[in-house]
Amino acid sequence: MRHPRTHAWKAVAATAVCGAALAGLGTVRGRPLRSAPTLAAAGAGMAAGGLMAHEWLTPRPWLYGTVFWHARTSERVVALTFDDGPCHPYTGHLLEILDRAGVRATFFQVGNNVRREPTLSAEVASQHEVGNHTFTHPHLVWSRPGTVREELLRGQEAIHDATGTLPHLFRVPHGRYGPQVISVAGELGMRCVGWSVMAWDWARPPAGVIQRRILHGVGPGGVTLLHDGQDTDAFPKADRSHTVAAVSDIISSLKASGYGFLTLPELVDLDAAG
Ligand SMILES: [Zn+2]
Repeated sequence: MRHPRTHAWKAVAATAVCGAALAGLGTVRGRPLRSAPTLAAAGAGMAAGGLMAHEWLTPRPWLYGTVFWHARTSERVVALTFDDGPCHPYTGHLLEILDRAGVRATFFQVGNNVRREPTLSAEVASQHEVGNHTFTHPHLVWSRPGTVREELLRGQEAIHDATGTLPHLFRVPHGRYGPQVISVAGELGMRCVGWSVMAWDWARPPAGVIQRRILHGVGPGGVTLLHDGQDTDAFPKADRSHTVAAVSDIISSLKASGYGFLTLPELVDLDAAG
């Protein structure tokens, strides 16, 4: 899959290289270091290089490819997403809460956890959307494309074996993509997804704090990020009791403010139609 900004990032890279080269060449030829052309060339090179580095590390990159993190809409709709499951007993508790509230959500499952809890994974997939969150939950931002590909494919295989479906959504562990992750996901037919609001719930703040952070940061077309598991850990090492305790009130507060709930593919469609 060829990305429309294939040329954009090459132009930025060329500016970075040419700016640095022109500044260097001018200096070598005896032009004063502080001359206007040298400073301009060095400045352009540094700005372009800085942009490339920023785009590599930001959770919401644009230059190397698209990461979907919110829908451009004024409609009061939100997509709830949960990462790092399935993880007994928290995923099951969440399924009960969501079922009672009549809300469908999106779960980014870790392949290793799916292998451990295939029945729970299938139960999630029967009611909600499931996305790929790699097999071993590694940091991929500096990984080679081959490593990225293996993590994504092993995740797909585990989810497919457990649920019979192949995810079209991918969320990178730890939030940072790097251009190679976006392009490998694209080659495998997966769209990269981020979030618009999170609650740092992996640090296990009290449920009231999780709730406040989400409700404070959410807006129309938003994507919330919470966790029903913890990396590849199982209970009791993984403890998501605070998150589970917060979700019911988050949903009722959002409903009271007039919000409706969409799955991520529905939110992506809404954004595309807007
Ligand atoms: Zn994660």
